[in-house]
Amino acid sequence: MTTILATWNEPGKVAIEAAWAARRRGADLISCLEAGLAAAEKDPTLVAIGLGSLPNADGELELDASMMDGRTLNAGAVCAVRGIVPVISVARRVMERTPHVMLAGEQARRFAIAEGFRPENLMTPAAIERYEAWRHDRSLEREYVHAIEESHDTVTMLAVESTPEGPHCVAASSTSGLAFKLPGRVGDSPIVGAGIYADDEVGCAGATGMGEELWKACASFRTVENLRRGYTPQEACNDTVRHMLRRQPRSREFPCVVFALGRDGSYGAASTLGDFPLWVGVDDVPRLETYPALSAEPA
Ligand code: ASP
Repeated sequence: MTTILATWNEPGKVAIEAAWAARRRGADLISCLEAGLAAAEKDPTLVAIGLGSLPNADGELELDASMMDGRTLNAGAVCAVRGIVPVISVARRVMERTPHVMLAGEQARRFAIAEGFRPENLMTPAAIERYEAWRHDRSLEREYVHAIEESHDTVTMLAVESTPEGPHCVAASSTSGLAFKLPGRVGDSPIVGAGIYADDEVGCAGATGMGEELWKACASFRTVENLRRGYTPQEACNDTVRHMLRRQPRSREFPCVVFALGRDGSYGAASTLGDFPLWVGVDDVPRLETYPALSAEPA
Protein backbone atom coordinates (compact mmCIF):
# COMPACT_ATOMS: atom_id res chain seq x y z
CA MET A 1 0.00 0.00 0.00
CA THR A 2 1.11 3.56 -0.75
CA THR A 3 -0.43 6.73 0.68
CA ILE A 4 0.50 10.22 -0.51
CA LEU A 5 -0.74 13.50 1.02
CA ALA A 6 -0.36 17.05 -0.34
CA THR A 7 -1.39 20.41 1.09
CA TRP A 8 -3.73 23.01 -0.42
CA ASN A 9 -6.27 22.83 -3.16
CA GLU A 10 -4.83 24.01 -6.49
CA PRO A 11 -1.07 23.50 -6.16
CA GLY A 12 -1.64 20.35 -4.12
CA LYS A 13 -3.69 18.84 -6.95
CA VAL A 14 -0.90 19.41 -9.47
CA ALA A 15 1.63 17.99 -7.02
CA ILE A 16 -0.27 14.87 -6.00
CA GLU A 17 -1.25 14.01 -9.58
CA ALA A 18 2.37 14.30 -10.72
CA ALA A 19 3.51 12.22 -7.74
CA TRP A 20 1.04 9.43 -8.61
CA ALA A 21 2.05 9.59 -12.28
CA ALA A 22 5.64 9.00 -11.16
CA ARG A 23 4.48 6.18 -8.89
CA ARG A 24 2.72 4.49 -11.80
CA ARG A 25 6.02 4.62 -13.70
CA GLY A 26 7.61 2.75 -10.79
CA ALA A 27 9.35 5.65 -9.01
CA ASP A 28 10.43 5.30 -5.39
CA LEU A 29 8.84 7.59 -2.75
CA ILE A 30 11.63 10.19 -2.85
CA SER A 31 11.31 10.49 -6.63
CA CYS A 32 7.50 10.64 -6.40
CA LEU A 33 7.52 13.57 -4.00
CA GLU A 34 10.27 15.29 -5.98
CA ALA A 35 8.22 14.87 -9.19
CA GLY A 36 5.10 16.20 -7.47
CA LEU A 37 6.70 19.32 -6.04
CA ALA A 38 8.75 19.94 -9.19
CA ALA A 39 5.56 19.88 -11.30
CA ALA A 40 3.92 22.50 -9.08
CA GLU A 41 7.10 24.62 -9.01
CA LYS A 42 7.39 24.60 -12.80
CA ASP A 43 3.73 25.48 -13.44
CA PRO A 44 3.70 29.26 -14.15
CA THR A 45 -0.08 29.47 -13.74
CA LEU A 46 0.06 28.51 -10.05
CA VAL A 47 0.60 31.50 -7.77
CA ALA A 48 1.99 29.18 -5.14
CA ILE A 49 5.51 27.81 -5.37
CA GLY A 50 8.41 28.18 -7.81
CA LEU A 51 7.83 29.87 -11.15
CA GLY A 52 5.07 32.49 -10.96
CA SER A 53 4.83 32.64 -7.16
CA LEU A 54 4.92 35.88 -5.16
CA PRO A 55 8.24 37.61 -4.44
CA ASN A 56 9.80 39.26 -1.39
CA ALA A 57 9.64 42.98 -0.59
CA ASP A 58 12.41 43.64 -3.14
CA GLY A 59 10.39 41.98 -5.91
CA GLU A 60 12.70 38.93 -5.93
CA LEU A 61 11.61 35.35 -5.55
CA GLU A 62 13.49 33.53 -2.80
CA LEU A 63 12.61 29.85 -2.65
CA ASP A 64 13.00 27.27 0.12
CA ALA A 65 12.69 23.47 -0.06
CA SER A 66 13.41 20.39 2.00
CA MET A 67 13.20 16.61 1.93
CA MET A 68 13.65 13.92 4.59
CA ASP A 69 14.04 10.17 4.19
CA GLY A 70 12.44 8.33 7.11
CA ARG A 71 14.54 5.21 6.53
CA THR A 72 17.93 6.84 7.15
CA LEU A 73 16.90 10.19 8.71
CA ASN A 74 18.94 11.77 5.89
CA ALA A 75 17.70 15.22 4.98
CA GLY A 76 18.49 17.96 2.48
CA ALA A 77 17.33 21.55 2.24
CA VAL A 78 17.95 24.86 0.53
CA CYS A 79 16.75 28.30 1.55
CA ALA A 80 16.50 31.80 0.04
CA VAL A 81 17.51 30.55 -3.42
CA ARG A 82 16.98 32.96 -6.31
CA GLY A 83 16.38 32.13 -9.96
CA ILE A 84 16.39 28.33 -9.82
CA VAL A 85 13.57 25.77 -10.17
CA PRO A 86 12.82 23.17 -9.09
CA VAL A 87 14.42 23.86 -5.73
CA ILE A 88 13.06 20.59 -4.37
CA SER A 89 15.50 18.85 -6.74
CA VAL A 90 18.33 20.99 -5.40
CA ALA A 91 17.33 20.01 -1.84
CA ARG A 92 17.40 16.36 -2.88
CA ARG A 93 20.91 16.78 -4.27
CA VAL A 94 22.06 18.40 -1.04
CA MET A 95 20.71 15.31 0.74
CA GLU A 96 22.23 12.78 -1.63
CA ARG A 97 25.44 14.40 -2.87
CA THR A 98 26.80 16.44 0.04
CA PRO A 99 27.58 15.69 3.68
CA HIS A 100 25.38 18.67 4.69
CA VAL A 101 21.71 19.23 5.46
CA MET A 102 21.19 22.80 4.23
CA LEU A 103 22.71 25.25 1.76
CA ALA A 104 21.59 28.88 1.80
CA GLY A 105 21.15 31.79 -0.57
CA GLU A 106 23.75 32.58 -3.22
CA GLN A 107 25.86 29.58 -2.26
CA ALA A 108 22.89 27.25 -2.72
CA ARG A 109 22.32 28.82 -6.13
CA ARG A 110 25.99 28.28 -7.03
CA PHE A 111 25.71 24.64 -5.95
CA ALA A 112 22.60 24.25 -8.13
CA ILE A 113 24.32 25.75 -11.16
CA ALA A 114 27.33 23.48 -10.61
CA GLU A 115 24.87 20.56 -10.54
CA GLY A 116 23.52 21.58 -13.96
CA PHE A 117 20.45 23.69 -13.06
CA ARG A 118 19.94 26.68 -15.36
CA PRO A 119 19.27 30.06 -13.72
CA GLU A 120 16.13 31.75 -15.03
CA ASN A 121 13.80 34.65 -14.38
CA LEU A 122 10.96 33.24 -12.25
CA MET A 123 8.77 36.36 -12.18
CA THR A 124 5.70 36.09 -14.43
CA PRO A 125 3.69 39.16 -15.58
CA ALA A 126 0.89 38.20 -13.14
CA ALA A 127 3.33 38.07 -10.19
CA ILE A 128 4.88 41.41 -11.22
CA GLU A 129 1.38 42.92 -11.27
CA ARG A 130 0.63 41.64 -7.74
CA TYR A 131 3.98 42.99 -6.55
CA GLU A 132 3.34 46.42 -8.07
CA ALA A 133 -0.11 46.54 -6.46
CA TRP A 134 1.44 45.68 -3.09
CA ARG A 135 4.12 48.37 -3.51
CA HIS A 136 1.40 50.97 -3.93
CA ASP A 137 -0.55 49.86 -0.90
CA ARG A 138 1.83 48.20 1.49
CA SER A 139 0.33 46.34 4.36
CA LEU A 140 2.68 43.56 5.22
CA GLU A 141 0.48 41.90 7.82
CA ARG A 142 -2.54 41.96 5.55
CA GLU A 143 -0.52 40.47 2.73
CA TYR A 144 0.72 37.71 5.00
CA VAL A 145 -2.88 36.75 5.68
CA HIS A 146 -3.78 37.00 1.99
CA ALA A 147 -0.80 34.97 0.99
CA ILE A 148 -1.54 32.20 3.44
CA GLU A 149 -5.31 32.13 3.10
CA GLU A 150 -5.66 32.73 -0.62
CA SER A 151 -2.55 31.97 -2.65
CA HIS A 152 -0.87 29.39 -0.43
CA ASP A 153 2.84 29.71 -0.84
CA THR A 154 3.75 26.18 0.10
CA VAL A 155 3.14 22.60 -0.90
CA THR A 156 4.18 20.03 1.69
CA MET A 157 3.89 16.32 0.88
CA LEU A 158 4.04 13.16 2.96
CA ALA A 159 4.17 9.57 1.74
CA VAL A 160 4.31 6.11 3.26
CA GLU A 161 4.58 2.71 1.60
CA SER A 162 4.58 -0.86 2.82
CA THR A 163 7.77 -2.73 2.00
CA PRO A 164 8.96 -6.23 2.90
CA GLU A 165 11.27 -4.58 5.49
CA GLY A 166 8.37 -2.61 7.04
CA PRO A 167 6.75 0.78 6.38
CA HIS A 168 8.86 3.50 4.76
CA CYS A 169 8.04 7.21 4.73
CA VAL A 170 9.29 10.44 3.15
CA ALA A 171 8.41 14.10 3.77
CA ALA A 172 9.12 17.05 1.45
CA SER A 173 8.20 20.70 1.11
CA SER A 174 8.66 23.54 -1.35
CA THR A 175 7.72 27.18 -0.81
CA SER A 176 8.20 30.74 -1.98
CA GLY A 177 7.71 31.69 1.68
CA LEU A 178 5.40 34.47 2.75
CA ALA A 179 4.58 36.95 0.01
CA PHE A 180 6.45 40.28 0.27
CA LYS A 181 8.58 38.98 3.15
CA LEU A 182 11.75 40.78 4.15
CA PRO A 183 14.59 39.71 1.85
CA GLY A 184 16.51 36.87 3.50
CA ARG A 185 13.56 35.75 5.61
CA VAL A 186 13.32 31.98 5.90
CA GLY A 187 10.28 30.20 7.36
CA ASP A 188 9.58 26.71 8.63
CA SER A 189 9.36 24.85 5.32
CA PRO A 190 13.06 24.12 4.70
CA ILE A 191 13.77 23.50 8.39
CA VAL A 192 13.91 19.84 9.34
CA GLY A 193 11.71 19.43 12.41
CA ALA A 194 9.68 22.56 11.69
CA GLY A 195 8.29 22.20 8.13
CA ILE A 196 8.88 18.45 7.71
CA TYR A 197 9.99 15.39 9.65
CA ALA A 198 10.04 11.68 8.81
CA ASP A 199 11.07 8.63 10.78
CA ASP A 200 10.19 5.14 9.59
CA GLU A 201 9.93 4.05 13.23
CA VAL A 202 6.70 6.05 13.66
CA GLY A 203 5.65 8.03 10.55
CA CYS A 204 5.99 11.56 9.22
CA ALA A 205 4.54 15.05 9.58
CA GLY A 206 4.54 18.34 7.72
CA ALA A 207 3.43 21.92 8.22
CA THR A 208 2.18 24.92 6.29
CA GLY A 209 1.01 28.40 7.23
CA MET A 210 2.70 31.07 9.32
CA GLY A 211 6.26 29.80 9.32
CA GLU A 212 7.53 31.78 12.28
CA GLU A 213 4.96 30.22 14.62
CA LEU A 214 5.33 26.71 13.16
CA TRP A 215 9.08 26.94 13.56
CA LYS A 216 8.89 28.11 17.18
CA ALA A 217 6.68 25.07 17.90
CA CYS A 218 9.06 22.68 16.04
CA ALA A 219 5.70 21.63 14.66
CA SER A 220 6.64 18.61 12.54
CA PHE A 221 9.06 17.07 15.02
CA ARG A 222 6.62 17.64 17.87
CA THR A 223 3.91 15.89 15.87
CA VAL A 224 6.12 12.91 14.95
CA GLU A 225 7.16 12.59 18.60
CA ASN A 226 3.44 12.55 19.47
CA LEU A 227 3.11 9.56 17.13
CA ARG A 228 5.97 7.93 19.02
CA ARG A 229 3.99 8.39 22.23
CA GLY A 230 1.22 6.30 20.69
CA TYR A 231 -1.10 9.08 19.53
CA THR A 232 -3.04 8.59 16.30
CA PRO A 233 -2.05 11.06 13.54
CA GLN A 234 -5.18 13.11 14.25
CA GLU A 235 -4.46 13.19 18.00
CA ALA A 236 -0.82 14.03 17.28
CA CYS A 237 -1.81 17.03 15.12
CA ASN A 238 -4.49 18.19 17.56
CA ASP A 239 -1.97 18.16 20.40
CA THR A 240 0.55 20.25 18.41
CA VAL A 241 -2.06 22.79 17.33
CA ARG A 242 -3.51 23.05 20.85
CA HIS A 243 -0.01 23.60 22.21
CA MET A 244 0.43 26.44 19.70
CA LEU A 245 -2.96 27.96 20.48
CA ARG A 246 -2.11 27.90 24.19
CA ARG A 247 1.55 28.99 24.11
CA GLN A 248 1.75 31.11 20.94
CA PRO A 249 -1.09 33.68 20.83
CA ARG A 250 0.03 34.86 17.39
CA SER A 251 -0.80 31.44 15.98
CA ARG A 252 -4.47 32.29 16.59
CA GLU A 253 -4.23 35.20 14.15
CA PHE A 254 -2.81 33.33 11.16
CA PRO A 255 -3.44 29.85 9.78
CA CYS A 256 -0.89 27.35 11.13
CA VAL A 257 -1.42 23.78 9.95
CA VAL A 258 0.18 20.44 10.78
CA PHE A 259 -0.64 17.10 9.19
CA ALA A 260 0.67 13.63 9.87
CA LEU A 261 0.85 10.20 8.29
CA GLY A 262 1.39 7.10 10.40
CA ARG A 263 3.28 3.92 9.51
CA ASP A 264 -0.06 2.16 8.94
CA GLY A 265 -1.28 4.78 6.44
CA SER A 266 -3.64 6.50 8.90
CA TYR A 267 -3.47 10.28 8.72
CA GLY A 268 -4.83 13.49 10.20
CA ALA A 269 -4.51 17.27 10.11
CA ALA A 270 -5.25 20.26 12.32
CA SER A 271 -5.23 24.02 11.84
CA THR A 272 -5.20 26.99 14.21
CA LEU A 273 -7.41 29.09 11.92
CA GLY A 274 -9.48 28.52 8.80
CA ASP A 275 -10.38 25.38 6.90
CA PHE A 276 -7.46 23.34 5.61
CA PRO A 277 -7.75 21.37 2.35
CA LEU A 278 -5.63 18.19 2.17
CA TRP A 279 -5.21 15.94 -0.86
CA VAL A 280 -5.21 12.27 0.05
CA GLY A 281 -4.23 9.49 -2.34
CA VAL A 282 -4.40 5.88 -1.18
CA ASP A 283 -3.42 3.56 -4.04
CA ASP A 284 -6.10 5.43 -5.98
CA VAL A 285 -7.40 8.69 -7.49
CA PRO A 286 -6.56 11.49 -5.04
CA ARG A 287 -9.47 13.13 -3.21
CA LEU A 288 -9.68 16.41 -1.33
CA GLU A 289 -10.57 16.43 2.37
CA THR A 290 -11.22 19.53 4.47
CA TYR A 291 -10.18 19.97 8.10
CA PRO A 292 -11.85 22.76 10.09
CA ALA A 293 -9.83 24.85 12.55
CA LEU A 294 -9.46 23.52 16.08
CA SER A 295 -10.75 25.52 18.97
CA ALA A 296 -8.37 26.33 21.82
CA GLU A 297 -8.85 23.85 24.64
CA PRO A 298 -6.68 22.95 27.58
CA ALA A 299 -4.36 20.16 26.42
N1 ASP B 1 5.11 28.03 5.87
C1 ASP B 1 5.46 28.92 4.79
C2 ASP B 1 6.45 29.94 5.29
O1 ASP B 1 6.24 30.47 6.37
C3 ASP B 1 4.30 29.63 4.17
C4 ASP B 1 3.08 28.80 3.83
O2 ASP B 1 2.97 27.65 4.23
O3 ASP B 1 2.18 29.33 3.13
O4 ASP B 1 7.39 30.24 4.59
